[in-house]
Amino acid sequence: MADTEAPTTVAHAEPQVLRVAVPTPLRRLFDYRPGPVPPAGGWRAGLRVKVPFGRRELVGVVAECAATSDLDAAQLKPIVACLDDEPLPADWLWLCAFTARYYQHSPGDTFQHAMPGPLRQGRPLEARTRERWHLEAEPTQALARLTRAPKQQALVELLAQHRHGLVTSAITAQGFTRAQLQSLLDKALVTRSEEPLAAAPAAAGPLLAEPSLSLNREQAQALATIHEGLERFHPCLLHGVTGSGKTEVYLQLIESALSQGRQALVLVPEIGLTPQTLSRFRKRFRAPVVALHSGLTDLERLDAWEAARSGRAPIVIGTRSAIFTPLAHPGVIIVDEEHDGSFKQQDGLRYHARDLAIARAHHEGIPVLLGSATPSLESLAHARSGRYRHLRLTQRPSRHAPAKLELVDLRGRMRQGGLIPPVIDGIRQALNAGGQVLVFINRRGFAPTLACHQCGWIAECRHCDARMTLHRQPPRLVCHHCEHQTLQPDACPTCDSADLRPMGAGTERTEETLSTLFPEVPIHRVDRDSTRRKEAFDQVLGEIRRGEPSLLVGTQMLAKGHHLPHVTLVVVVNADAGLYASDFRALEHSAQLLVQVAGRAGRADRAGRVLVQTLHPDDPNLRLLADNGYDALAYQLLEERRLAMLPPFRRLALARFEAPREGDATTEAEAAGDALRAWLGERRERGQALDVHCLGPVPAPMERRQNRYHLQLLLSADKRSELHEASAWLVAYLEQHASRRVRWSLDVDPVTLV
Ligand code: ADP
Ligand code: ZN
Ligand code: ZN
Repeated sequence: MADTEAPTTVAHAEPQVLRVAVPTPLRRLFDYRPGPVPPAGGWRAGLRVKVPFGRRELVGVVAECAATSDLDAAQLKPIVACLDDEPLPADWLWLCAFTARYYQHSPGDTFQHAMPGPLRQGRPLEARTRERWHLEAEPTQALARLTRAPKQQALVELLAQHRHGLVTSAITAQGFTRAQLQSLLDKALVTRSEEPLAAAPAAAGPLLAEPSLSLNREQAQALATIHEGLERFHPCLLHGVTGSGKTEVYLQLIESALSQGRQALVLVPEIGLTPQTLSRFRKRFRAPVVALHSGLTDLERLDAWEAARSGRAPIVIGTRSAIFTPLAHPGVIIVDEEHDGSFKQQDGLRYHARDLAIARAHHEGIPVLLGSATPSLESLAHARSGRYRHLRLTQRPSRHAPAKLELVDLRGRMRQGGLIPPVIDGIRQALNAGGQVLVFINRRGFAPTLACHQCGWIAECRHCDARMTLHRQPPRLVCHHCEHQTLQPDACPTCDSADLRPMGAGTERTEETLSTLFPEVPIHRVDRDSTRRKEAFDQVLGEIRRGEPSLLVGTQMLAKGHHLPHVTLVVVVNADAGLYASDFRALEHSAQLLVQVAGRAGRADRAGRVLVQTLHPDDPNLRLLADNGYDALAYQLLEERRLAMLPPFRRLALARFEAPREGDATTEAEAAGDALRAWLGERRERGQALDVHCLGPVPAPMERRQNRYHLQLLLSADKRSELHEASAWLVAYLEQHASRRVRWSLDVDPVTLV
C-alpha cells in the first residue's frame, strides 16, 4: 500500500471555510462557515462539529480548514456547534483519511465507522471514572474511635486488608453503604481517589506478573530479528506451524515495547478473542490489557478507546475494527492468524484490517508482525520478495510435530452421518485410548439438501439461487443465504410422494449418528446454532479442556486458534468443498482451514492423527497438501496465480451491482462497463494509457440472493495507482449517473468474487 499525506492539522486563526466530513454515502467533504465562537484552541482539522444537513443535524469531523470555497460564501451554512476542545487523535485522523482514500469510501462514513458509538452521537471524549477508597488511619486507632459504630468498624477491617484500596462497587457488594463510607471520610479515617474506569494504572512494580518462557532457538532468532527494527517500519511474517509458540513471541515482543513505554496493538480473528486468549495476555502482564470485542457496550468501547488514546492502556487487543484504535505511544502492531477472513469487512466500508495494519505501521514508523501457520499468499509473496522479513518456526515445544493429513477415499463407501466405517473405527480406537476426537464438518444443520426420492425435486429457497438446509433442532428448512425459513413439507410439492430424504450431512446429523454409535461418550456440538448464547461456547471449551474422553462436532468455529490439548484425532468429514470451486482463492482458503483444523490434533503430550475424507484422493493439490504440507501447496498456488495474472501479482477491484429487477442491474452494470472502457480508450488516444482491464459485467456466482439480482464488473491492473485512478473514475461516474433502483459498491482488493 502506498503512503499518502495526512490531513492538514495546522491551526488557522480564522478560516473562512470548514470542510467537513459528514456521515453520508457521498464521497466528498461539505463546506460550512465556522460558528461565531471559535473553540479554545482555534479551528483545526479533527474537531467534531454538529452541522445542518438537509433537514437534520449531523455530527461530522472537520477535515480541512480553508480560505475559500467553490461555493459562494454567503450560501454556506454555519456550523451549529463545535463538540471538542481538542481535535481527535492525529494518528487516527490519518488512518481514517487513508482508509477513505484507499477504499474509495465516503470520508464522513469512514470517520463514523472508525469511532465508538458515543462519539458519533456527540458525547465528549473523556474517561468515565470511579472512586477508590483507602484506609488513611492506622487500623487499631480507627477501630478505637468507632466503638459505637460496629458496621463502620467492619468497613475499616475490610479496607485494612486491601493495601491498594477498594472501589466503591466492590465495597457495596459486601453489604456496606455509601453513607458509611462518607462518615469515615468525614472523620478523616479514609481517603477517596478517582480513577478511570478502563485501564486504571497498575500500582508501581515489575512489568511481568509471571516469568516469560525461555525461548527455543527459532523463537529467539525470530524475536531478535524483530528487535533489529523496533524504531522503524519493519514488517515481519512470523510463519510458524500450529503450536510452534508464536504467541510466546508476541508476548515477549509486547514486553519489549512496554518496557520502552510504548503500546502494543494486537489484532485477532473474530472467533479468536476468547476468554482463554485474553487470559494468556492478562496472566503475563501486570499492566492492564484492554479488549475490544462485540460484547462491549458502547460506553465500555468509548472507555477502552479513551484509555488507548491517552496511553493508559499499554496493551490493546481486539478484532478487525480495533485497527481504528488511537494510540498515544504506538510501539508495535501484531496481527495474529493474519490469513483469517474475518479481517476483511465484507459490507459497507470494505477494509482489510491486516492491510491497514501494514499501512498504519508504515505511517507510525513501527514494526508490524503478521503471524500465521498458513500465511495468505499475499503475505507469503511479500516475505519471499524480501519486502517482509520471513521468520520461520518449524518446531513445536511439545514433542510432537503437527500430524500429517491421511486422505481417506470416500468413493463407493456407505456413509453414516457422513462418516465411513474405517473412520468410525478410528474414532472408537482414539476414544478407547482415552483421547478426545474432533469431527470437523463445515455445514451446520442436519443436511444440506432435502430431496424427493421419486422425482428428484429439491427444496430450494424462494428468494435465492440456493438449496434450503434441513435443520432438526427445531425442525425446519432454512436458507443459509437469506435466513428464509419454512416448515419441512410432508410430501413432495411436485409428485406428492412422501419419500423425502435428507441428503448429505451437517453438524446435527453427524452429532446424531455419533451419539447412537457412542452412547456412553459425551458429545459437544459447536456451530452458530449451538452457540447462540455467548457463554455457551466458552462453557463447551471449558468442559473440553478438562480432558475427559469426548467427541466434538463442529464447524470452523472449533477449527481455528483454540488450544485443545487432549484432542488426539481430528476427522475432516469432507475436504472437497474448495477443490473445484470457481473462486480463485477457494483452494487457498480451504487448504488453510484444513491445516488449521489438523493443527488441533496432538498439541500437548500425545501424538495426533488427522483423517481427511475425500471423493478426490488423487487430486494433485490435495495430495501435495497431504504429502508436503501447506507451504509446498502455497508456493505452487503462487506460481499459478502469477501465470493467471491474479493477486498478489495483479491488483483487483470489484464493482458490484444489485437490484430487485434483473434488467435494472444488467442495464446499469453494462452502462458502467461501457463508460469505463470508453474513458480508458480516450486516455489511450491522448497518450495517457492506463494498464487497466475491465471485465464484465458478469452475473455474480449466486445471481439471485434475497430476491435481488447481482452482477459484477472486475477491474484489474498491475499498478496500484492506475487501478486507483480507474476505479475513482468509475465511482465518480456511478455517483453521478447510477439509477436509484440499483445499489452498487466498490470492493478494493476483494477477498472473494461472490
Ligand atoms: P501458536 O501460537 O504458534 O499456535 P502457542 O504459543 O500457543 O503456539 O504455543 C503452543 C504451546 O507451546 C503452548 O502451550 C505454549 O505455552 C508452549 N510454548 C511456547 N513456547 C514455549 C517455549 N519456549 N518453551 C516451552 N513451552 C512453550
Ligand atoms: Zn417428487
Ligand atoms: Zn434464500
